[in-house]
Amino acid sequence: MALRFDGKVAIVTGAGGGLGKTYALELAKRGCKVVVNDLGGDRHGTSSSTSMADKVVQEIKAAGGQAVANYDSVEYGDKIVKTAIDNFGRIDIVINNAGILRDVSFVKMTELDWDLIFKVHVKGAYAVTKAAWPYMRDQKYGRIVVTSSNAGVHGNFGQVNYAAAKSALIGFANALAQEGAKYNILANTLVPTAGSRLTETVMPQNLVDALKPDYVTPLVTYMVHDSFEDSGKVFEAGAGWYGTLQYYKSKGKVISNATADDLAKNWSTITDMNGAEFIGTITEQSARLVSILEEHESSS
Ligand code: NAD
Repeated sequence: MALRFDGKVAIVTGAGGGLGKTYALELAKRGCKVVVNDLGGDRHGTSSSTSMADKVVQEIKAAGGQAVANYDSVEYGDKIVKTAIDNFGRIDIVINNAGILRDVSFVKMTELDWDLIFKVHVKGAYAVTKAAWPYMRDQKYGRIVVTSSNAGVHGNFGQVNYAAAKSALIGFANALAQEGAKYNILANTLVPTAGSRLTETVMPQNLVDALKPDYVTPLVTYMVHDSFEDSGKVFEAGAGWYGTLQYYKSKGKVISNATADDLAKNWSTITDMNGAEFIGTITEQSARLVSILEEHESSS
C-alpha cells in the first residue's frame, strides 16, 4: 500500500456503520490511529447506544490496527477531539461524516425536523472541526473533509432541511480552505452516493446492494492523505465513478442602468452558458466586478 498514514490520527464521525465505517477500517489498515465516533442512534437522530462504535473498534483491533471508540454526538466536538488527544496525543484528520435524515415535505416539516438536521450535519461539522482547528494550526498540518450530498447540490423533494444543511457544508469547507491555506490545512467536500441505512428508505434494494460504500472509500482515503494537494473543492464518488464539481458563471451581459424590462429582453443572453467561465475564488469574482465598474466609468 503506497498511501500510508503511519503516525497520523484521524477522527471519523458516524463511523459505526455505513460509509464512515469503511473509512475507519481503511485508514486503520493503512496505519492510521482512528477515533471511531458514533452516537449509535437510529437514522432519525432520536436514540443512542455504544455498540456501533465498539464493534468497529473491535474489528480494527482484530486486524492489528489502532482505534478508540467515542460515543458523543458530533455537536459535542470538543469531547471527540479530547478522545483523540487523550488517547493518541494529536489530531491530523477530521472526516465529518455523521448524518441523519428527517425527510418530509416542506408543508409537514416541523421545527424539530429542521433543527435536528442542522444540529447533526452543520453544527456537528462545525463543533468537531472547531475543536481540532487549533491543534492543526499549531502543527501546521490538517486534512478536513465534510460530507455534502447531491441533495445539497441539486435539491430534492422531501429534503428541504437536509438539502439546505448539505449545501451549507460546501460553503463551510470552501471558507475553511482559505483560512487553512497558510497552515497547510486542506478542507474539501465529498459528495457520496452509496447504499446504506440512510438510502435504503429512498432506493430500491437492488440499487442499495449495488452501490457499495466501498466505492466511495478510496476517494476519502486519498483526500485525507499527505500527498493530496487540492483544497476548497468538491469531489464526488459513487458506483465506481469519481469526479469533481465546480461552479461556472455565464458570460452574461453588461447593461448600464438596466431596468427589469431590459433584463426580460436579454434573458436568453444573460443565462446562456455557452462560453461560461470557471470562477475559482471570491477574489476573482470581485476583480471581475471591479473591472466592469471601471468600464462603466470610462464609458460615461
Ligand atoms: P449511515 O446512517 O449508515 O451512517 C451515519 C452514521 O452517523 C450512523 O452510524 C449514525 O449512528 C451516525 N450518527 C448520526 N447522528 C450522529 C451524531 N449526532 N453524532 C455521531 N454520530 C451520529 O449513513 P451513510 O449513508 O453512511 O451516511 C454517511 C454520510 O454521508 C451522512 O452525512 C450522509 O448524509 C452522507 N451522504 C450519504 C449518501 C448515501 O448515498 N449514502 C449520499 C449523500 C450523502
